Amino acid sequence: MTSSDIQPYIEGVLKHNRRMISKTITLIESTLPAHKKTARRVVDQLLPYTGKAIRLGITGVPGAGKSTFIEALGMVLLEQRYSVAVLAVDPTSIRSGGSILADKTRMEKLSVEKNAFIRPSPSGGTLGGVASKTREAMLVCEAAGFDVVIVETLGSGQSEVAVSSMVDFFLLLMISGAGDEIQGMKKGVLELVDAIAVNKADGDNIQNARFAKKQCETALHFSTPSSPNWSPPVRTCSALNVTGIHEIWDTVLQHREKMSSTGELAMKREKQALDWMWFLVKEGLLEWFYKSPSVKTIMPQLEKAVEEGTITPTAAADRLICFLEDT
Ligand code: GDP
Repeated sequence: MTSSDIQPYIEGVLKHNRRMISKTITLIESTLPAHKKTARRVVDQLLPYTGKAIRLGITGVPGAGKSTFIEALGMVLLEQRYSVAVLAVDPTSIRSGGSILADKTRMEKLSVEKNAFIRPSPSGGTLGGVASKTREAMLVCEAAGFDVVIVETLGSGQSEVAVSSMVDFFLLLMISGAGDEIQGMKKGVLELVDAIAVNKADGDNIQNARFAKKQCETALHFSTPSSPNWSPPVRTCSALNVTGIHEIWDTVLQHREKMSSTGELAMKREKQALDWMWFLVKEGLLEWFYKSPSVKTIMPQLEKAVEEGTITPTAAADRLICFLEDT
């Protein structure tokens, strides 16, 4: 493909042409080697136009109200004249072929808005592959001029790490009233979050939500915050009644103000880019390892030998790695 072939993508994205934004993301998601190469060139050319959006990550267990919340927040943002793109990293789509954003009934109001753009999670491949594609789709949306990019993911450890490493602000959406309020609140995720929102604080559930808020505050108190300049607050909201949503957005803006004035935002993005490179290197190496014919041959025997105790795990690991070095 020549440079004139990539020009329509670049011009289309920069002119905020929705069809071309979608086509460019489809190109990024393609697994065909020729498409991959073209996509890389398109993203490289768009890179100078990226970086201006507010990047917001949202996680929470299924049923926490993520899509209801994103729709409510999206509508609030549109009222405030922001344009909004919604993307997703859904590791389950790797296995099932389904996707958290594939259900067309989700975000019905937002999806028909001119200044909103919703794209389901790419499916297939490794988590790193899926997250990479979302990360590049985010850059496309930024180059297209979207003011806010929201990246949704499910409450699963690894995808949360992946999403938190591509956004400026990471929000955990919780639900209250289930008795055990700490569902999905693994220690690891607390160290990634910039705020927690206890959703469904409405009707009979308001007291429960307040209680859950206190529990989250206590849990956060015992975890190390991701920034020395920011203590993650806990808010309550009702995505259904659109209460507490403005306050959460204000929190995002306060965080941004703080991170920009301390220079932490720029540093965070630099570090994220480097971390991302290493994440992909590690994933690439693992993939290469498992695909190696010599590893495939020797692996079953070695596994059996380790199980039977005829070889130590250390010696087995050494042999596997040496085998790879020889190939
Ligand atoms: P997701 O799986 O995290 O995306 O959750 P959904 O947005 O699909 O919401 C799951 C269910 O919770 C749906 O039936 C929603 O109507 C309901 N729900 C979402 N937000 C609220 C809320 O603020 N209050 C109440 N009462 N229900 C909510």
